[in-house]
Amino acid sequence: MHERNEYYIDGAWRALSSRERIEVRNPASGECVGSVPAGHRVDVDAAVRAARAAFPHWNDTPPAQRADALHRVATGLRDRAEEIALTITAEMGMPIRMTRRIQAPLPAEVFATTADALDGIAFEERIRHSRVTRTGRGVVGCITPWNYPLHQIAAKVAPALAAGCTVVLKPSELAPLNAFILAEIMHEAGVPPGVFNLVSGHGRSAGASLVAHPDVDAISFTGSTEAGRRVAESAARTVKHVALELGGKSASIVLDGADFDSAVRTTVSRCMLNSGQTCNALTRLLVPVSRHDEAARLAVAACATLQMGDPLLETSKLGPLVSEAQAARVRRFIDGAIADGAELLCGGSEAPPGLGGNYVPPTVLGHVAPHSALAQQEVFGPVLAILSYPDGDEDAAAAIAEATPYGLAAAVWAGDDEAAMRFGRRLRVGQVDINGGVFNPAAPMGGMKYSGTGRELGRAGIEEFLETRSFQLPQRDTTT
Ligand code: NAD
Repeated sequence: MHERNEYYIDGAWRALSSRERIEVRNPASGECVGSVPAGHRVDVDAAVRAARAAFPHWNDTPPAQRADALHRVATGLRDRAEEIALTITAEMGMPIRMTRRIQAPLPAEVFATTADALDGIAFEERIRHSRVTRTGRGVVGCITPWNYPLHQIAAKVAPALAAGCTVVLKPSELAPLNAFILAEIMHEAGVPPGVFNLVSGHGRSAGASLVAHPDVDAISFTGSTEAGRRVAESAARTVKHVALELGGKSASIVLDGADFDSAVRTTVSRCMLNSGQTCNALTRLLVPVSRHDEAARLAVAACATLQMGDPLLETSKLGPLVSEAQAARVRRFIDGAIADGAELLCGGSEAPPGLGGNYVPPTVLGHVAPHSALAQQEVFGPVLAILSYPDGDEDAAAAIAEATPYGLAAAVWAGDDEAAMRFGRRLRVGQVDINGGVFNPAAPMGGMKYSGTGRELGRAGIEEFLETRSFQLPQRDTTT
C-alpha cells in the first residue's frame, strides 16, 4: 500500500487543508493500492506562491545548470525504474512487461533528451538594432492523465524547467502515485525549493483552481478534448498561455505498393498497445476495398497473439481497462458499431472468460462506415475499425482519413518512403509514422484540430514555455 499524506511544496512535504483522500484502485483486482490527499484551492495557492517565489532565481540560473539538474533527475528515474514500473502497473493496469519497457524508461529518456535539446535554443539573438531574448514564461500549471502517467508528466515538467519556468503539477486522480516518486527524485536531485511542486486532487477542484489562478502564467494540459475545452475557456479569463494535448482518432492508411502484411500487423499492435488507451493509437485501418477481407484476416490473426491476463504475469500483453466506467463505455461503442452495420470480426463486448469486469478483448470491426460513431469518436479501448476506399483512389483515402474532428497522428504505408511522405503531408495531423517509423521521444509531438494546440518534446517542447522579448538599442551614428 502506498499511503501519501502530504504535498510536495517549496522543497518540503506538507500536510495541508482537508482530510479528504483519493483511493487508488488496481484496475485488475479492484483492490485499493494506495491513497493520496485530495487538494483544494488553498493547497494550490500555497504551491503557486512557492513556484512564484522560486521563479526569478531559477529563470536566471544558466541553462547549462538547469540541464545538469534535469540529467540528475533522469538518473534518479533510472535508479528507481523497477519501483516505477510496479507502481504504474498497480495504478493503471498495463502489463508489467510493457511498463518495464515503456512507462518506466521513457520519462528518464524525456528528461535527458530535453536537457540535451537546451543546447539548440538561442536565448538571445540580434535583429537589426534589437536584442531579442527568450525567457521562461513564469509559473506553469501542469495537468496530466493516467494512461502514460509519468511520461505525460515528464513531457511537461522537463521542458518547463528547462525553459526556466517553475511548476505546479496536478497529476491524474486515477494514477497519482508515480508523481510522488518523481517529487522524491526531484528533491534528491537538488532541484531548488519551489521549482517543482506537487498537489494531488480532482480535476474539478485542484485542477480547476490551478487553471483559474491569477498568478499562474501558463497551463499545459493533457487529457480529453472535453476537459481541454473547459480548461481553455477558464484560462482565457486570466489570459494565460495554454497548451493542450487532447484526444485522437488516428488513421493508418495503406496505399498501393505497401508491405500489406506488415502494415496490418503493425497497425493492430499500435492500436492495441496499452489496451487501446493511447492518445495516438492507430484506431482506423484504411485499405483499398478489394483488400478489405485480406486485412480482416490478418488483423484477426494478429489479435490472436495478444494474450490478455493479470498485468503482473510476464506472459500478459494486454491488461484491463483503467476503470469499470471506461470498460462500460468501450462495450457501448462495440455494440453501437454492430448496430450501425459494422461486422464483428473478433473480440466483442463480452468480458473474456475468467477475467474481471474491466477486461475487454482485442476487437476488430470490419466494413465500418466513415461517418459512424466508431469511425468518428475516440473509444480509448482495444478496438480497431477497418474502413475502405476505392482501389487506387488516394484522394478518397485522404478525404476519409481527414474526415474526423481530430488531428493527432497517422501512419502511411506505401511502396517507398517518399510516396508515403507525399501522402502524409496532405494530412492535418501532428505526427505521421512513415512505413512503420516508430515514436521518437526527442521529436515534437502534438495535435491539430480537436487534438489540441502546442507541441511537447524536444526543442519545440521547450519553446512552448518561452516568452520572446525585444530590447531596442539606441542607434548611435558610427560614421563620425
Ligand atoms: P481527463 O480529461 O478526464 O483528465 C485529464 C486530467 O485533467 C486529469 O488530471 C483531471 O483531473 C484533469 N481535469 C479534468 N477536468 C478538469 C478541469 N475542468 N479543470 C482542470 N483539470 C481537469 O482525461 P483522462 O481520462 O485522464 O485521459 C484520457 C484522455 O487523454 C484521452 O482523451 C486521451 O486521448 C488524452 N491523451 C492525450 C494525449 C496527447 O498527447 N494528445 C496523451 C495522453 C492522453
